[in-house]
Amino acid sequence: MSDAVQDEAIGPLTELKGVGHAKAARLARLGIRSIRDLLLTQPVRLVVWPEPESIRGARGKKGERVTLQGTIRRSVLQRIGGKRSLVRATLEDGTGEMDLVFFNQPWMKEQLSPGAEVIAHGQVVDVRGPGLASPRLGTEERPLPPPGTLAPEYAGGDGISGEVVGGLIQDALDRFGEQLTEPLPDIFLERAAALPARESAFSLHRPKSVAEFERARRRFGLQPILVLQARCQARRRSLSGAARAASISAATHSNILSRFPFELTEAQARVVGEIRADLGRTRPMRRLLQGDVGAGKTAVAAYAAMGVAENGGQVAVMAPTEVLASQHAYGLAPILEAQGLRTCLITGAMRSGERKATVERLQAGEIDVAFGTHALFSKDIRFRRLDLAVIDEQHRFGVAQRDQLAAKGDEVHVLLMTATPIPRTLALTIYGDLEVSTLDGLPPGRGEIVTRWARGDDRRKMPRFLRERLEAGEQIYWVVPRIGGDGEGEEAASAVSAERRHADLQARPGFAAAGIELVHGRLPAPERGHRLDRFRRGEVATVVATTVVEVGVDVSNATVMVIEDAHRLGLAQLHQLRGRVGRGSKASYCFLLGDKKAEEKFRLLERSRDGFELAEEDLRQRGMGDLLGLRQSGDNLEGLIDPERDLPLLIAARDLFHERPDLVQHFLGS
Ligand code: ADP
Ligand code: MG
Repeated sequence: MSDAVQDEAIGPLTELKGVGHAKAARLARLGIRSIRDLLLTQPVRLVVWPEPESIRGARGKKGERVTLQGTIRRSVLQRIGGKRSLVRATLEDGTGEMDLVFFNQPWMKEQLSPGAEVIAHGQVVDVRGPGLASPRLGTEERPLPPPGTLAPEYAGGDGISGEVVGGLIQDALDRFGEQLTEPLPDIFLERAAALPARESAFSLHRPKSVAEFERARRRFGLQPILVLQARCQARRRSLSGAARAASISAATHSNILSRFPFELTEAQARVVGEIRADLGRTRPMRRLLQGDVGAGKTAVAAYAAMGVAENGGQVAVMAPTEVLASQHAYGLAPILEAQGLRTCLITGAMRSGERKATVERLQAGEIDVAFGTHALFSKDIRFRRLDLAVIDEQHRFGVAQRDQLAAKGDEVHVLLMTATPIPRTLALTIYGDLEVSTLDGLPPGRGEIVTRWARGDDRRKMPRFLRERLEAGEQIYWVVPRIGGDGEGEEAASAVSAERRHADLQARPGFAAAGIELVHGRLPAPERGHRLDRFRRGEVATVVATTVVEVGVDVSNATVMVIEDAHRLGLAQLHQLRGRVGRGSKASYCFLLGDKKAEEKFRLLERSRDGFELAEEDLRQRGMGDLLGLRQSGDNLEGLIDPERDLPLLIAARDLFHERPDLVQHFLGS
């Protein structure tokens, strides 16, 4: 049964009465491109036609839809400038009066002359007191539906009213409803407890009961889930190319491991094994490595990079910020170079001469491992033989950037890394066939982190406590968040607050003596890098920063994180920031300064250092759009899917597409 063929039998919108090309184009802009789409259009609400009620009772029902019956007492026509007019007719039923108001329908004054018996239905709104605005009037030719009638209402737009859409749907139902086929196998409908499309369409647009209507809605509620899964599967499947296998011999394997200044943890060793197996195959690796902040993902990435480079392939390591990209570059260069590998760093801030030279070396194959921001995937950059792309903090990149990477070649192995872990089932489901590795636990020898929402007494004692840490030779991050999103103005504003805090600390002897750096996004990248380097080398004890330090900065001697205006930041972001400390063996401290309105978040952080637990909580708070990066892509699936409620459906959808790969295409059109 090919669904596409059946669709053609149903035909294009122009087969409907009164739909020409112009109207079809308008409907298309509402997302309705075919008669099939029309039949599958979800009503925005189901109206149950009410019994007429007393005006006295209706006056207290603002926002509700009511039916009123009575006699017109007065009716006035007002001109309100230009061609605009307003008719206000007062209806009376023995219990009280209410105005019926009509805009730009001057003839209503005659129709509703005093003494006329009227039945009217509409929503009670405020029109200088409760009244009905443009109510529907029952007439002999067109009476109101009998009370209890169920009437779905539809969204309109682009010059087409919801009523017109509803009319077209009824027409389409009469002529084509019986032909509507169900593309989903029974098994899926069973799993989703949904009715097949044809029954659902009739139940949705001509429901006999509210329960039947709700059940039908379930069938069409599956649509966004199926579209989402279809996209995941299609993205995965578009990787038809074969990657180059990088086989890592036992000798190379132990040689690489000997480069690290530490033994891999059990978890790292396991993940390294998984990646070694992936790289040895020609099927392109698509692996998500999730591990809490500080879990040691970088070493795993370094292993993969060395393994590929040893096989003659090039590696790109992409990070979301210049700070992080350069840290990877500086941090890993010694290990890689000791192995005889050549590295470079490419960022947007590079001078053009330098960039040109680097690009040439990349293209000539004179670089083995390139670090950088998304600048790594600009058009002018060509690798001689890119075999592996590592994307750190992948959740910070949007779908668009990930696709940009994909455009560089199907034949590339990809390792995505994230410190914002998502539940495994959800990851599998969202990313389709992406393999997931998890680094659980932290490397040994980590001190504890004490987290405090500091206010009152704690807040007053904080400066003294910080001075003691400085005297003990430890280091401090002091974060002044950027305000709001990514706007230039916001960054500027927070740069100013960071400057102010910097000046304030400079005036305190304990801090000033040990040295303070100021880092924010308005500084040129190289300068920012120098300042962070001084902090990294321990030449200054305190760094005051905007959230540019958020991701990945690794200074094990830093034991204190102060976060101002912490209520402005999300749970995941706060956890990330806190993860900058607690990297050495000494005890660390995180002070959250912020508004009581974020108390719940602060308490959660005080209780838990487990990114997994926090992430689940965060997920619950933010919904799934963020997680998918859909928000950046301008997609509107977000909000339609609720991870908790829909997880079984998401999984069912994934399984369905595995069983019936032919169905994927069907859900991609929109
Ligand atoms: P993240 O997973 O947040 O990227 P990093 O890779 O930056 O974490 O690692 C955090 C710190 O842990 C680094 O200082 C790193 O050198 C150290 N580290 C990583 N693996 C181990 C290990 N097996 N034993 C000891 N320290 C390790
Ligand atoms: Mg990291």
